[in-house]
Amino acid sequence: MSSDDEKMILDTISKWAEREVRPIAMACDHEDTYPHALVEQMKELGLFGATIGADYGGLNLSASTYSSIVEEVAQHWMAPSGIFNSHLITASCIERAGTDAQKEKWLPRMATGELRGGIALTEPNAGTDLQGIRTTARLDGDHYIVNGAKTWITNSLNGGCLGLLVKTDASTTPPRAGMSMLFIETRDEEGNLRPGLTVKKMKKFGYRSIDSCELTFEDFRVPADSLIGGEEGRGFYHAVGGLELGRINIAARGAGMARGALALATRYAQERKTFGKPICEHQAVQLKLAEMATKTEAARLLVRSAARAYDTGERCDMEAGMAKYFASEAAVFCAEQAMRIFGGYSFSKEYEIERFYRDAMLLCIGEGTNEMQRIIIARQLISRNPA
Ligand SMILES: Cc1cc2nc3c(=O)[nH]c(=O)nc-3n(C[C@H](O)[C@H](O)[C@H](O)COP(=O)(O)OP(=O)(O)OC[C@H]3O[C@@H](n4cnc5c(N)ncnc54)[C@H](O)[C@@H]3O)c2cc1C
Repeated sequence: MSSDDEKMILDTISKWAEREVRPIAMACDHEDTYPHALVEQMKELGLFGATIGADYGGLNLSASTYSSIVEEVAQHWMAPSGIFNSHLITASCIERAGTDAQKEKWLPRMATGELRGGIALTEPNAGTDLQGIRTTARLDGDHYIVNGAKTWITNSLNGGCLGLLVKTDASTTPPRAGMSMLFIETRDEEGNLRPGLTVKKMKKFGYRSIDSCELTFEDFRVPADSLIGGEEGRGFYHAVGGLELGRINIAARGAGMARGALALATRYAQERKTFGKPICEHQAVQLKLAEMATKTEAARLLVRSAARAYDTGERCDMEAGMAKYFASEAAVFCAEQAMRIFGGYSFSKEYEIERFYRDAMLLCIGEGTNEMQRIIIARQLISRNPA
């Protein structure tokens, strides 16, 4: 696709986000209801195939365009970006590591959004330390039998498929050598959950409206040919293989949220008056706006630079980590400063800023916590600069 085509797609999605995402954000968030109509529009726009290759019906967008799309959506409401982001993480895992037959079977349906889902790594006792997962998959004839529990799995109630990280051999040292990734279709032809799987939606502080769930697998049967890549013991590498793009995408959400919070605060500061003048004319408020604007711009530049590096095929785990760390912290910073600028009204459910405050913190946790990002950045820094 030419860069002009990519620009046109970005422009279309930017207008759509302003027209369709923004107006429904507050009600969906407050009522914790899923934006079904928005999902239908996302299908039309091709968002479920944004980074999937054209051979499988996707748009094959560059990381630069894709991250700009994520930023455009997140500046209005961050949660819907998770509907296609988590889905595309699993799609990219299949595209990178799947067999030809697996790609042909699943990717075209994923690209249209007919088959939508997410990625199931985290368990009640293992998040950062992924090698500590306990969910097992035991081969029994031509099926794997899955037992265990996952938690916080986004898109697992309203979606129909998941990349599922399991242990096919719990006795290996290191544990990652016994980890595998299965692709599971969670629903049957009638749309009912398949036997052996229960899904319970979790109540959340932020990132509401989108389903994040606890999953329980009890003798859940998965066809053996759903082992991604067809080889056991590769699951950990499949899971971490998509982290660079995953982090750029969280960073883009952060840059979008920082931008959104800054826009809300700037407008409010121009309208609200104290001591006979708009509060934006008080220096204390100006200092906040200036810091927010600077961090927002820096976040956007870091996202662009990491996406550009990714697009040229360079190793960019340090750049993606820096963008993720900085942009997510910028989102938290801007949301908090905006709360202060809104004063008492920041606590009102009639204003949008409180949602930014609740949603922003997630970005510091997902796709590797910001503590881990700094460790990754430092390790890369040291290894790229040997003494
Ligand atoms: C709303 C939401 C949606 C999510 N969606 C998904 C999803 O779709 N799929 C999925 O698989 N997961 C999902 N997650 C889970 C998320 O990825 C994990 O919460 C995250 O990886 C952190 O794991 P944890 O919560 O177990 O924290 P822990 O790993 O227990 O970490 C707790 C704290 O200890 C710190 N810490 C841990 N180890 C180290 C270390 N070695 N050095 C320094 N500090 C350390 C962490 O940084 C953190 O501050 C979601 C989470 C939320 C809240």
